[in-house]
Amino acid sequence: MIDGRAVAAEVRERVATAVAEFSANSDGRVPGLATVLVGGDPASHVYVTNKRKQTEEVGMRSINRGLAAATPETELLDLVAELNRDDTVDGILVQLPLPDQIDPDHVVAAIAPAKDVDGLSPISAGMLAQGRPGLVPCTPQGVIELLAHAEVELAGAEAVVLGRSILVGKPLAALLLAANATVTMCHSRTRDLAEVCARADILIAAVGVPRLVTAEMVKPGATVIDVGTNRTEEGLVGDVDFDAVAQVAGAITPVPGGVGPMTIAMLLANTLKAARGRPI
Ligand code: NAP
Repeated sequence: MIDGRAVAAEVRERVATAVAEFSANSDGRVPGLATVLVGGDPASHVYVTNKRKQTEEVGMRSINRGLAAATPETELLDLVAELNRDDTVDGILVQLPLPDQIDPDHVVAAIAPAKDVDGLSPISAGMLAQGRPGLVPCTPQGVIELLAHAEVELAGAEAVVLGRSILVGKPLAALLLAANATVTMCHSRTRDLAEVCARADILIAAVGVPRLVTAEMVKPGATVIDVGTNRTEEGLVGDVDFDAVAQVAGAITPVPGGVGPMTIAMLLANTLKAARGRPI
């Protein structure tokens, strides 16, 4: 069992130590993460509150901005421009989803690439696709961190990624490729999904379909990472049929307590990386 809560706690500790060192070496400058929440969606509120709390816990500054649900797109773009110019802000995170009158693509693209700690802008995505240094989306980076922690060899491994979203599947495939895995991406139009999955040394599910991955789809001894977080009547379940697959897999992440806790930990790591990269 790969324990995401424990690995995330280790990452946060590492970041806290590095933040203290960073401040000591830069005249007391403290890395700052600006979070922007538009409207009062309860789930988004919980996510942002956790991000703000954990930012402060590792010794960074949390700059909290809230806008009304009816805020026009131009006003949010003005706020992003202001945060881009603000030298005390190292990372900018606009919590998604946004209300209907705002196009998230416009907003994400407006964030300065050097402050794009969610790694979702076209420039960040392009840098990753070209294997160049930049800020990488947090959840896929968390998956790579979990694999490293479990000492899973990526070079030469058959890695199969289920899902091709901009948020998870695509950046994850790019990271695995950069680590020299042989990567296959699957999606809703993939034929013989079970057969493709059964080839995987590393199988990563990011589809949003409860328990799509069954034991028959998993090669004995494979590492199985479950990114899925599906709210069902039974509570939170992943994209993997955990109880059955755990009998076959060599290593597996649970839901909850696997990939989930890694996302904020990697956001903090990205904010520190952004602070180190800015010449002030
Ligand atoms: P998404 O944007 O909805 O993308 C889902 C992907 O899965 C699509 O590429 C889709 O294919 C594919 N897919 C859907 N049904 C499939 C099927 N039956 N067989 C094969 N592929 C199928 O979702 P996402 O944002 O990537 O998120 C995926 C899951 O991860 C969700 O449960 C989400 O809640 C979770 N998640 C968790 C975290 C976290 O733990 N921190 C962060 C992000 C997301 P098409 O492209 O062909 O439509």
